[in-house]
Amino acid sequence: MNVLFAHKVDRLGSHRVIEPAGALPQNAIKLDNTPIPFENEILCEVEALNIDSASFRQISESNDGDARRIGDHIMQTVKERGKQHNPVTGSGGMFIGEVLSIGAQLRERIDLRAGDRIASLVSLTLTPLWIDAVKDVDTATGRVWICGKAILFESGIWAKLPGDIQTEVVLATLDVAGAPAQVRRMAKPGDSVLVIGADGKSGMLACAQAKMATGGSGRVVGVVPDAGTESARLLIEENLVDALVEADAREVLNLVDKVHAALPDLAHLTVNCVNCAGTELSSIICTRENGTVYFFSMATSFTAAALGAEGVGKDVTMIVGNGYAKGHAELALQTLRDHPAIHAYFRKRYAPAQHFEQGN
Ligand code: NAP
Repeated sequence: MNVLFAHKVDRLGSHRVIEPAGALPQNAIKLDNTPIPFENEILCEVEALNIDSASFRQISESNDGDARRIGDHIMQTVKERGKQHNPVTGSGGMFIGEVLSIGAQLRERIDLRAGDRIASLVSLTLTPLWIDAVKDVDTATGRVWICGKAILFESGIWAKLPGDIQTEVVLATLDVAGAPAQVRRMAKPGDSVLVIGADGKSGMLACAQAKMATGGSGRVVGVVPDAGTESARLLIEENLVDALVEADAREVLNLVDKVHAALPDLAHLTVNCVNCAGTELSSIICTRENGTVYFFSMATSFTAAALGAEGVGKDVTMIVGNGYAKGHAELALQTLRDHPAIHAYFRKRYAPAQHFEQGN
């Protein structure tokens, strides 16, 4: 359905909301995803989606990890909602693609032209998306190559793809750009920082920034499920952490014992970068009194965090992981440039997979 001209165009994109009335695109159940831009919109040809890690894990588990079924699942969600907004996890992801056209109202006001390749820096949960076909699903990385189109609103943010970093790596990095930027702001010289899920995308970038921000007098400890993986070893070899704790972050008592051994006074700042549910209490307990917990994970439950902190009588500041911070895209990409070993690992890990064609 096209609601073209049904409403006055809005910079936030409310003219694309089909239901419920009064919602904005992010909290809408359904968007009009007709790939014809209004005068204040940007129309893009989408090359690939980076599905949010918590969302991809949930979709993958409910489809037995089967790439074709995952592709069908994503097609179905987009058909129903007009956007890739996982109804279970509530999260989305982002896309890379090429600008096809820019509405007349916007054209002269932004530094973007048809033909530019960009990464969206707003969530897929609010991005009108049209999928003609899923070409490939990489089950290892949550990357989905499609034939399709997306709309960016006037208020949407985007970044032109840099020339010096491979597209696949940019996609992986910018999806989690909020984490390193927020850690850079929050970690102070001399702090003890605990990064849970340290060997994932956001975790590695967060460790790198924590190390830079805390300096020689600080201490950065990473929690990983398996200290033998390539990414975990890299954290130690590249001095991105001072120590690793090997533990399942859902097992609170086991984790806190191990963290105590690495950080006897616990953490000033705990950064939660896991992609599974049930780690709120671990994050809280491993943080010292009056410390800060930064919940970047999309699998975070507000209820579990709020009641968990109350239940254990811990006075900590808990911060919701805002995916946006001023300058976050450039800072995240610069983190890669400053750390060639992470950059090389990201290149290896997020390289394209084999393609298959999937129906419309
Ligand atoms: P990722 O690359 O998949 O990393 C997740 C990491 O968590 C992996 O290293 C994983 O280890 C580890 N992990 C999983 N279960 C664990 C457990 N029980 N104990 C300890 N570690 C565990 O994910 P990402 O892309 O960095 O994203 C991390 C989180 O941020 C996700 O929840 C994602 O949804 C969220 N996110 C938030 C925003 C925002 O705006 N706030 C934006 C993007 C993403 P294994 O690989 O060994 O399982």
